[in-house]
Amino acid sequence: MTRHYNFCAGPAALPVAVLERARNELVDYQGRGLSVMEMSHRSDEFVAIAEQAEADFRALLNVPEHYRVLFLQGGASMQFAMLPMNLLGQGGSGNFIQTGIWGKKALSEARRLGYACHVAGSSEPNGHTAVPGLDTLDISRDAAYLHYTSNETIGGLEFDYVPHVSRPDGKQVPLVCDMSSNILSKPMRVEDFGVIYAGAQKNIGPAGLTLVMVRDDLLGRAQSDIPSLFDYQQLAEAGSMVNTPPTYAWYLAGLVFQWLRDDIGGLEAMDAINQRKADKLYGAIDRSDFYSNPIAKANRSRMNVPFVLADAALDKVFLEEADQAGLLNLKGHRSVGGMRASLYNAVPEEAVDALVAFMADFEQRRG
Ligand SMILES: *Cc1c(COP(=O)(O)O)cnc(C)c1O
Repeated sequence: MTRHYNFCAGPAALPVAVLERARNELVDYQGRGLSVMEMSHRSDEFVAIAEQAEADFRALLNVPEHYRVLFLQGGASMQFAMLPMNLLGQGGSGNFIQTGIWGKKALSEARRLGYACHVAGSSEPNGHTAVPGLDTLDISRDAAYLHYTSNETIGGLEFDYVPHVSRPDGKQVPLVCDMSSNILSKPMRVEDFGVIYAGAQKNIGPAGLTLVMVRDDLLGRAQSDIPSLFDYQQLAEAGSMVNTPPTYAWYLAGLVFQWLRDDIGGLEAMDAINQRKADKLYGAIDRSDFYSNPIAKANRSRMNVPFVLADAALDKVFLEEADQAGLLNLKGHRSVGGMRASLYNAVPEEAVDALVAFMADFEQRRG
């Protein structure tokens, strides 16, 4: 068996140790004589798996007691709709900072559903190459929350600060953050936020699972006529089991949390590794005239590194040769072209070393 290096933006690489453990437990989970996939979500065995996963996640991120952690389906994109349904049920408007494609989708979904929305800041004037400064943000008087995307996965633009701003009347607005592509990449303060959400398929586990953290005081504000499966309060009261949750993805996420704690040593250690990985790749890009990345240094994403070749005619052969060298999924998003290397937690430092060596070799031969 050969494992290649997978730089896919999502669904993304998973830790080999997690895959191996899942394989070993696949057919017969810890001597119970059945697979986790075959367990009732209400069984003692599965409830124990689910509770352990939540406890490990809470410990990794120091999630305070007054936050619920929900294990849902529907992807991050379903949260684009659930957020306004839950947070604007008693009026007010959603405020949005726009730094790329995902933030734009969050805004357009809220608008599509007829909610009042306000753009509080945007990096559109600079072509999404630098996040707007804190002092340029303009929150509306009726803001019920401020939404932003901490890491724009497609553009490779990451916030280097938490946008704490109050309304013109001095009132604090809950911060809502789409952390799909950089959650668990470093330590953070959950208490800075009202709601945090993330699709699992980047840094948490397989596709099909979405994690949502909601501060208790934001429950129970939903519009009354929304489906019960969309209502944070009902989901929280049922322990994310209003209906059948994505049980196997939940279990795999639990294995990833254990790997982060036991094999990596927690989020501070993960942070240091991620920094080294990003420094190596951006360093290689910056040292060369053949490769380039347009993002302001302070806002360069550590998780998703888009880059272009000096000669776009070489893109195809670059990707073919990379693929042959066991460096998979380096093609940039269809909307931007070029290349993109995603360096999520499960992408080992050796993968970055191999990519950097390949890039230098390619430049020498073809540049
Ligand atoms: C991948 C991604 C999404 C979309 O996730 P789905 O689970 O496919 O809905 C949304 N936001 C960000 C920042 C992402 O990286």
